[in-house]
Amino acid sequence: MKSAFKILIIWCISYNLANAQKDTKAILESLDSNKDNYAALAQELWMNPELGYLENQSAALIIAELEKEGFVIEKGVAGIPTAFTASFGTGGPVIGILGEYDALPGMSQVAEPEFKARVAGAPGQACGHHLFGIGSMAAAIAIKNWIQSSGKSGTIKFYGTPAEEGGSGKVYMVRAGLFDGLDAVLSWHPGDQNTSNPSTNLATISGKFRFKGNSSHAATAPERGRSALDGVEAMNDMVNMLREHTTESTRIHYVITKGGDAPNIVPAEAEVYYVIRHANRMEVKSVWDRVVKAAEGAALGTETQMAYEIIGGTYDRLPNETLARLMHKNMLLVGGVDYNDKDLNFAKDIQKTLSNPKPIASAAIIQPIEFTYGKASADTGDVSWNVPLAAIRAATWVPGTPPHSWQAVAAGGTDIGKKAMMVAAKTLALSAIEIYKKPETLIKVREEFNERRGPDFTYTALLGDREPALDYRK
Ligand SMILES: [Zn+2]
Repeated sequence: MKSAFKILIIWCISYNLANAQKDTKAILESLDSNKDNYAALAQELWMNPELGYLENQSAALIIAELEKEGFVIEKGVAGIPTAFTASFGTGGPVIGILGEYDALPGMSQVAEPEFKARVAGAPGQACGHHLFGIGSMAAAIAIKNWIQSSGKSGTIKFYGTPAEEGGSGKVYMVRAGLFDGLDAVLSWHPGDQNTSNPSTNLATISGKFRFKGNSSHAATAPERGRSALDGVEAMNDMVNMLREHTTESTRIHYVITKGGDAPNIVPAEAEVYYVIRHANRMEVKSVWDRVVKAAEGAALGTETQMAYEIIGGTYDRLPNETLARLMHKNMLLVGGVDYNDKDLNFAKDIQKTLSNPKPIASAAIIQPIEFTYGKASADTGDVSWNVPLAAIRAATWVPGTPPHSWQAVAAGGTDIGKKAMMVAAKTLALSAIEIYKKPETLIKVREEFNERRGPDFTYTALLGDREPALDYRK
């Protein structure tokens, strides 16, 4: 009797295991069978890069695919024409998948290992968001197919999130309550290694400072002019002195976006665009306030007027180790990026142009879990303080490639980018399905989330109550 019971238990375990393996295999195969289609869609986005809040074609393309698959779409959410959600299924767990698609200005580049614009001055996918959008969409479709065929309870919600690069798109979506009621958000980002680290990054505030003076002939009537550019330069001087007196991990960057039209005209209008970052968002606020004082002082001293507009503001990321480990386990099942000879040759040529190349073979492996302090920022931070979130990185770029580089654009236009995109899609799909099958996992995820976030947390967006800066890239 006893041994019959034992046999039954062993049979149950192996039956479950076999079923789990069958599921995994089916998901991987279904994604593989559509990989050419997904690669073509990603290439279409890569060929037609669109800037933040202007991603009309990119969003429409992803919406059309998800609509075809039976997702319920809500377009133009949070007051943003290119933001949308796409849901499928009923009941819990409710899992969110994030997709981005915006490009970066002036980063146009051919898919070759030499620095050469495809269209001079045009935008380019230097952060790989074309892969991010399509890879996440592919995962959402695979998850939907599994929900449909398994008959299990669960909802998958894809978020089409525009203007990650400086536009803080997700912040408005969080503010509008679009992430309420979610159990977990799974995401990814292009990178040069395959990782699933429960990492933090930097909070940000960005804004444009606009100075107004009086124009005048720079030679015949200089005394009658007041230079708006002087205002900008005096502000920058003060901020550059301020840098020395900030705490560790402070980052301050600026570009002069308007500086006058001709040297013989005293510039009446000038503009400087700032980004402040720090690991601690309270510190970001404090440095921001000091930068505003520098702007006010500059205006006083140069007899110009100054007004500023906060453009973006994002939280640091709240890590969730439980979710990160779950994703890591599934990423190991999927494996890294498999280079063929063509990929290898491209990678070798790209590496000749990198100052810090990493071993090419590292693209094929999944890095061990490590807790890191990221130096970048993303609007996923705001999501992570509202819903437990984990984001992996997949090696869409040749190892050693920095984000926002021409080498990143180039790799994103080749098979390397598309292969890594499928590594991400598969990992997201397997991880979500594991949660639907074992919803009890979410108890630990939520406990860790509550503990890290602290008991008295209330969410207030760092960009305040401003409306989406829909014209920040115009
Ligand atoms: Zn990015």
